[in-house]
Amino acid sequence: MGVGGSLGGLATGLALKALGHNTTILERNPKPLLQDQGAGIVAGGDTLDFFERYNRCNRPLAVTSYARQYLNREGNIVHKEEMLQSMTSWDLTYYLMRANYDGVESPYCEVPDPAPGHGTAVHIHDRNVTEIREEPSGDSQDKPGRTGGGVRVFWKSSQGDEGSILADIVNENTLDTARCAGPSRKMRQARKPGRHVASGSPSSIAPASRSLHTSFRAKDGTVEPGKRLLNFVYYTNFPEGSDELEEIMTDCNGRRRAITMPPGMTDPNAWEKQRKLARERLPPQFAEIVCGTNKPFVQAVTDVLSPEHEYWGGKVVLIGDALAGFRPHTVASTSQAAFDAMIFADYIDGKVSREEWKRQTLGFARYIQKRGVDMGEHSQHMDLPLEDHIHDRNVASTPRQEEVYPDWATAFSG
Ligand SMILES: Cc1cc2nc3c(=O)[nH]c(=O)nc-3n(C[C@H](O)[C@H](O)[C@H](O)COP(=O)(O)OP(=O)(O)OC[C@H]3O[C@@H](n4cnc5c(N)ncnc54)[C@H](O)[C@@H]3O)c2cc1C
Repeated sequence: MGVGGSLGGLATGLALKALGHNTTILERNPKPLLQDQGAGIVAGGDTLDFFERYNRCNRPLAVTSYARQYLNREGNIVHKEEMLQSMTSWDLTYYLMRANYDGVESPYCEVPDPAPGHGTAVHIHDRNVTEIREEPSGDSQDKPGRTGGGVRVFWKSSQGDEGSILADIVNENTLDTARCAGPSRKMRQARKPGRHVASGSPSSIAPASRSLHTSFRAKDGTVEPGKRLLNFVYYTNFPEGSDELEEIMTDCNGRRRAITMPPGMTDPNAWEKQRKLARERLPPQFAEIVCGTNKPFVQAVTDVLSPEHEYWGGKVVLIGDALAGFRPHTVASTSQAAFDAMIFADYIDGKVSREEWKRQTLGFARYIQKRGVDMGEHSQHMDLPLEDHIHDRNVASTPRQEEVYPDWATAFSG
């Protein structure tokens, strides 16, 4: 059973289905399909590996950029690094996963034929998971004769219907349920309010307030040159509780959004102020991009890290953002979800030991989460030489297989 039907939930569902397990995903969104937030995603090594392993649709996933450029305030290139990076879009990734998981048809790709040996895949929308309870050992209503107990997942629909489903293992793919409906207090996430807001990779690095990355994404799944979109991330620091933060996080209808402001909902006056700031602070090329954007996707940057990733003896497992919510500049959230899903499936399949599964999953989550915080402190709050920012950026591109996790990142008990 997967809680949350975004990329992490779908990745886990796909990987377990391929092993022959019967899987069900409960997604709280009242509509059958999720909408992207208008942002592209970097297809890191684990995302590409995941698609290599589980994608049976025949179409390209990503486009490649070949260099990273750094501009000064005047817009001159002050440094260039040759570096390959694959980029895709959230919607293409989502529809490819849905086509492979539960055969959803879309203009993005053709649905592959069912594969022999695969388990069943059920995706149910409008199922807001409200609670998860460990089922006592012995007979249960849904699965008479089972021993060892399972996990009962309670849901509620937007129409007020309620129900529950019994599962052997629950993958929590959302930090919302991990926080509010987790099996134990320990599992609750520490979501710390961020000190900056990201809207939206040459990079412009300036102290104490902003950095900006652009990358190409595919429009409606298209990766053809000339039809792609430009994706950017632009950070602005606002002290917690400041008028500016309240203003940018209050939508055009006067509703204060906690974390995310969907495209089209930003107060035009608040966005106009951002445009002014962009003109004052950014290289002209980037200011032009920010000023030309009419429907930004604004997000308060938060730090989230669960102390553990499995509960109740492995009956509840956290995947992706539910385990660690990375800052955007790590460009690693989708890779984490893909990696967590792959190594969990390998563990279930007996290909990796429990110790290896735990060390690799926790190491990735803790180490990259900390790296994201450190990078943010350097670029948003410190006046460092350009070389330091270039170093940070290059380190963030280290392939996961080459990362050496410190002991604190991989430590676990039991
Ligand atoms: C609609 C949507 C659009 C996104 N668009 C982009 C994008 O364009 N670019 C980008 O870089 N990243 C985007 N992301 C984030 C990106 O998917 C994740 O950071 C990353 O892929 C890890 O995915 P995840 O599945 O671990 O977490 P998430 O993507 O956060 O998925 C969590 C899922 O759980 C569901 N959920 C939450 N609470 C409950 C509950 N109580 N019961 C049932 N379901 C619940 C949510 O609706 C969501 O679908 C988007 C996420 C979503 C949900």
